[in-house]
Amino acid sequence: MLDGSLEGRVALVTGGTRGIGLATARALAEAGATVVLTGRDEAKAKEAAAAAGADSGLALDVTDAKAVSTLVRGVAKEHGKLDIVVANAGIMEDALLGMIREELVDTTLSTNVAGTLHTVQAAARAMMRKKTGAIVVLASIVGEHGSAGQTVYAASKAAVANIARSAAKELGRSGIRVNAVAPGVIDTDLTSGLTEDAKAENIGKTPLGRLGTPEDVANAIRFLVSDDASFITGQVLGIDGGLVL
Ligand code: NDP
Repeated sequence: MLDGSLEGRVALVTGGTRGIGLATARALAEAGATVVLTGRDEAKAKEAAAAAGADSGLALDVTDAKAVSTLVRGVAKEHGKLDIVVANAGIMEDALLGMIREELVDTTLSTNVAGTLHTVQAAARAMMRKKTGAIVVLASIVGEHGSAGQTVYAASKAAVANIARSAAKELGRSGIRVNAVAPGVIDTDLTSGLTEDAKAENIGKTPLGRLGTPEDVANAIRFLVSDDASFITGQVLGIDGGLVL
């Protein structure tokens, strides 16, 4: 009987201090998992962990490959295993083509692409020994469909979707599933810069008639990392209220 329970599982959520990451940490903890969440600032991570009912909050900058590897190894060692990793940490900054600065390219690609890659690599290493595990990465509808003013971000999220597809092909035989979620417009700090007009326009284009909540995304992630999704890998699941239809 499948019930979505994550009892006895050990989970790591990067970028868990707010928004989708915080809601995901809470959803996994509510399903019974022991959850470790991270953020760049240790005090904020600890505060978020307490709010989410997570086991602990640790400082981590996902752009630092060595730090990611050390933290993931440490979590797996402390808890005896690592079953679930959600590579959620990400940034979004808009710029029209002519205004794209090299620094924006560097920070976006090092956080969204390299950061996700570091996390998936470290997760795979930690999960390989037990030949079981579930990884979810955060893509975006923008990565699948493009968006004016978001060329750099869209490129980074297209890369993230293909990290999921490629890693799924590579890790399936080791019992490790890798999926991506592609949220639409979710009401978090990341989208707080949108004008009320832009929000209304998005809602108007969305068949389900509202913006997404962090919990909408967290619930889908909780499903994807559970045994209910045990034959699902390499997918990019849209969570957008039908916005791209
Ligand atoms: P928020 O801006 O609310 O939160 C981002 C999280 O990422 C924070 O916890 C932040 O932690 C962390 N973070 C940022 N940079 C780093 C870094 N270098 N190292 C470690 N952690 C970092 O974003 P959302 O919750 O909205 O988004 C979460 C993910 O979902 C992102 O990957 C985003 O691209 C993706 N997404 C979001 C959508 C939306 O509409 N909101 C739509 C599609 C995809 P801290 O600042 O505390 O260090």
